[in-house]
Amino acid sequence: MTNSSIGAWRSVSPAIHLCVLQPHGVSVGLVAGEQRAALIDCGSTPEQGTALLERARSLVGVPVNHVVVTHPHHDHWFGLAGMEDVTSIAHEDLLRDPEPEVLDAAAAIGLARLPAPDETFSLARSLDLGGVRLEMLHTGPAHTRADIVVVVPGDDVIFMGDLVESAGDPQFGPASDTGNWPRVLDDALGASSEATRFVPGHAPAGGEELTVDREFCFRQRAEIAMVQGTVEGLVYRGVALEDALGFAEWPFGENTMRVALPLIYRRLAEEGIEPRRHLPLV
Ligand SMILES: [Zn+2]
Repeated sequence: MTNSSIGAWRSVSPAIHLCVLQPHGVSVGLVAGEQRAALIDCGSTPEQGTALLERARSLVGVPVNHVVVTHPHHDHWFGLAGMEDVTSIAHEDLLRDPEPEVLDAAAAIGLARLPAPDETFSLARSLDLGGVRLEMLHTGPAHTRADIVVVVPGDDVIFMGDLVESAGDPQFGPASDTGNWPRVLDDALGASSEATRFVPGHAPAGGEELTVDREFCFRQRAEIAMVQGTVEGLVYRGVALEDALGFAEWPFGENTMRVALPLIYRRLAEEGIEPRRHLPLV
């Protein structure tokens, strides 16, 4: 029916393995300690989640009994519905005000209700896998309202969910907070070093490189901040939403900007910042 597949595991450190799921090229992590292992994200459908957990359990010699959901998008989350005997962890807002696309995706696969996490947290929590520790961090809305990054300090790897995108432009959606996104990236970057490897939520087509470096994250942070700042400037100059696309050079493609621009205009309007059409353009 769909082109669903689970790629081969690839090791990025002794404790960390990655694989790429289709559709959507989702990068999934498996982090194993001496006592237990945890999956980072869970695939698009219950069937894929079941198969992924089996694959994970056949790779490592310890129980794979924890799953971390990086954010409430179906391709990272709905596999949880097919996973048994795991403790799932997510941000406390995972289920709050689901985006229409998420509800549509649930309906399309006959998911009666959105998979609820067993445990949630608001700002930070850690998980001891036995000699390997996960640090989960949420410092505000960005790509969605419930993004978390997962830091593996001993291995100098940070799972970014969709806060960083190397498969194309960053993806903006109805729950994205473009104004806050750069600050959230700053918090993750603050936990990193020159040598840290970052795992974006999607692998580029071809998928040979599953991690990016700090320089890449800094650049994308700057691009997102630039979009936000440019839109604010346009609004102050009185440029209407329908004219905004052609009014500036954007770091992202037209399809991305056609989603991002209305979103940012709406957010600014909610703060009382709207184009003042009575003023002449300068
Ligand atoms: Zn996403």
